Amino acid sequence: MPHPARQVTGAPRAAGRLTIAWIWGIPISVHVSWLLVFALVAGSLAAGYFPERQPGWGAATRWVLGALTSLAFFASVLVHELGHSRVALRHGIPIRGITLFVFGGVAQIGREPGSPGAEFRIAIAGPLTSLALAAIFGGVGTVGGSMALVSVPALWLARINLAVALFNLLPGFPLDGGRVLRAAVWAWTGSFDRANRAAAASGELLALVLI
Ligand SMILES: [Zn+2]
Repeated sequence: MPHPARQVTGAPRAAGRLTIAWIWGIPISVHVSWLLVFALVAGSLAAGYFPERQPGWGAATRWVLGALTSLAFFASVLVHELGHSRVALRHGIPIRGITLFVFGGVAQIGREPGSPGAEFRIAIAGPLTSLALAAIFGGVGTVGGSMALVSVPALWLARINLAVALFNLLPGFPLDGGRVLRAAVWAWTGSFDRANRAAAASGELLALVLI
């Protein structure tokens, strides 16, 4: 599931979204478009993935587990954004809000990091968080191997978190990998503007490749 990286914006817009929690003083919101992708993920698990893996599961089991697994996936996306946010806060950069929407999650950071090192640490924190989640779910799925109700969703969650980590490491702005690239060019050239242009160009190139 793709998720655009952080955006630098002002206060979060209230239109079409609902704040569901506050973590570390950060408002956590759900955009109305998220409901669609939540239902799509739950439905594809309940009607496609689970019946393939466990033909013996009844409809109630598949749909309840599909909804719970979809929720756990979006909790994982939120934890990825919290990974960025935690490091940003440690660098004194405010987080205006985290929103879950159709493409995943987005943390709105209050301003650009002041140094390439800070940029790198904030950017890499998200993929590292997703990798850690993949390892945890992979461990749960392996340990719970005999209990399919646990292991089948856990192994799916391990794979999707791995995919989130790897996708976000692609070196194109605004993905996390584009920010890592920007930090590298910034450190190398000493010019934020140059790094910004390089990251933007890499993003356009990556978009072309992906299309
Ligand atoms: Zn990220």
